[in-house]
Amino acid sequence: MTENDSPADRAFRAEVRDWLEANLSGEFAHARGLGGPGREHEAFEERLAWERHMAAAGWTCVGWPEEYGGRGATVEQQVIFHEEYALADGPARVNHIGENLLGPTIIAFGTDEQRARFLPPIVAVEELWCQGYSEPGAGSDLANVQTRAELRGGHWAVDGQKVWTSLALESDWCFVVCRTEPGSARHRGLSYLLVPMKQDGVDIRPIVQLTGTSEFNEVFFDGARTDAGNIVGAPGDGWKIAMATLGFERGVATLGQQVGFRREFEGVAELARRTGAIDDPLLRDRLTRSYMGLEIMRLNAVRTMAGIAAGAPGPESSISKLVWSTWHRELGELAMDVLGAAGLVADGAPYDLNDWQRLFLFSRSDTIYAGSNEIQRNIIAERVLGLPREPAASREARR
Ligand SMILES: Cc1cc2nc3c(=O)[nH]c(=O)nc-3n(C[C@H](O)[C@H](O)[C@H](O)COP(=O)(O)OP(=O)(O)OC[C@H]3O[C@@H](n4cnc5c(N)ncnc54)[C@H](O)[C@@H]3O)c2cc1C
Repeated sequence: MTENDSPADRAFRAEVRDWLEANLSGEFAHARGLGGPGREHEAFEERLAWERHMAAAGWTCVGWPEEYGGRGATVEQQVIFHEEYALADGPARVNHIGENLLGPTIIAFGTDEQRARFLPPIVAVEELWCQGYSEPGAGSDLANVQTRAELRGGHWAVDGQKVWTSLALESDWCFVVCRTEPGSARHRGLSYLLVPMKQDGVDIRPIVQLTGTSEFNEVFFDGARTDAGNIVGAPGDGWKIAMATLGFERGVATLGQQVGFRREFEGVAELARRTGAIDDPLLRDRLTRSYMGLEIMRLNAVRTMAGIAAGAPGPESSISKLVWSTWHRELGELAMDVLGAAGLVADGAPYDLNDWQRLFLFSRSDTIYAGSNEIQRNIIAERVLGLPREPAASREARR
């Protein structure tokens, strides 16, 4: 990877590597490798402390402009940062949603007051965020959102239910897509509100996932309050803002995750060498294809994302989401096939999964969240390739 770095990028890589080497030691030495997909609850407090330590040294929000507390890192440098972070076995980040989804949305669409109020605590990892989009009747068909909010004096009152809300229990704030124009339908009349989570009107109920952990939750809003000014974009303009956040979620935000894939792939290859599965020509072929997929993804990700780095990404970010999620799900299947029958047995009671079983189970969700593969294909077909739209009945059933 290093051989393609420009001199400036090589210096940046050395700076990141030296800092991580010096700091993932002492009190943080044990933080290496903690957390990750299906292990979001692991050592949360320690990972929070580590991320605040990173913040104090200026290593959070590296891709944000300097005026908002970032480092103004280029896409290439962000890749380098994530590569070195993965190589150093840095713990899974706790403020991914604030740093990669809400922050860029406020930078692009928020007011100066909102930037001043909300960005510094994200950079400092003092406030954590969750994403309040999905509802029991609104997933792929997000325009069917029924949660509503109305202005009462100086605040919004929010009522309704969200579901699958990742990290809601740990979060201080939620960006909520809700209906603010009574009688409105579909994507009209929606707004994008910023709602504090630690208040009486918010009830959070964890949902147990395939991995046995509960990263996501049901969230019930019952007269939850937020200040009238905590709305991004104009009232009724929430669809546009919500789509922009999804563009960030499907785009550069996935870089960190994607570079961790290389470590996972190498782990599966090592497992195949150890168990002798590598001598099976079919598994060997799949390992080779997986490796090629990894390389293609890396090259494509940098190219596509460099092209959309300025401003909010467009529908092209769906290509990257479709490719990495499918690749990762297949890696989970490959890991199970390399393990063979041993993969069917948990290491201990009641549900003590090893890394490969967890990878297999959690990666089933990759092709669902942030818009399922079918939805990404619809977006690519209609909005990137300009193919004919879906029949009217399902036309708006897209995220
Ligand atoms: C691990 C995980 C974390 C998540 N975290 C969050 C979060 O933090 N915040 C949040 O708001 N949401 C979150 N979600 C929810 C996620 O965004 C939704 O699950 C997703 O959008 C799909 O919606 P749904 O589950 O309602 O499925 P449905 O929309 O009911 O879809 C069911 C099936 O029908 C297919 N389908 C639907 N419409 C079409 C169509 N028009 N054309 C072709 N096929 C179609 C889908 O692809 C899918 O296979 C999370 C989900 C998961 C799995």
